Amino acid sequence: MRDMRFCSFCGKALALKTLDDGSEEKYCGACDHVFFETPSPAVLVLVTNSDSVLLARGVGWKHPYWGLISGHIRTGSTAEETAVREVREEVGLEVSNLKLVRTYAARDRRLLMLAFRAEAEKTSITKSQELEDAQWFSLSEPLPMRSESMSACFIKHVFENVAYRIKKLT
Ligand SMILES: [Zn+2]
Repeated sequence: MRDMRFCSFCGKALALKTLDDGSEEKYCGACDHVFFETPSPAVLVLVTNSDSVLLARGVGWKHPYWGLISGHIRTGSTAEETAVREVREEVGLEVSNLKLVRTYAARDRRLLMLAFRAEAEKTSITKSQELEDAQWFSLSEPLPMRSESMSACFIKHVFENVAYRIKKLT
């Protein structure tokens, strides 16, 4: 859908049409059909243990920053199931007190991010092969995050007085 260039009904090339609400969507004039571009739903999970937050780095990340656990919601899974599963799969931890806090829209990445909080009773991490690293960071110390990243914005939304620093890759 996102890179759709031709009408799925008649095969004609799609044009951009400005709708009454001002948004631009792909449109087939022959079928008079608007193909709305919809985002992929994903979860972002802020896992805490006492005053520590769980941060991770994905394999192959080209920047030096860390982020929260995240993952795409698959067909047939609820956002809650996905949040619990992603934490379990990526770091081997079970979480409780899962709460949906807010959502974020990332137009450039075509994502609708559902941001959850959760608590982990245990702290020993068994990281998956998708992660380069995962560690607990104290919320009272500057976090190794880009302050305008979605993960950092969410942590800032939940906790006040969070600071950030740039952590060099080792
Ligand atoms: Zn058509």
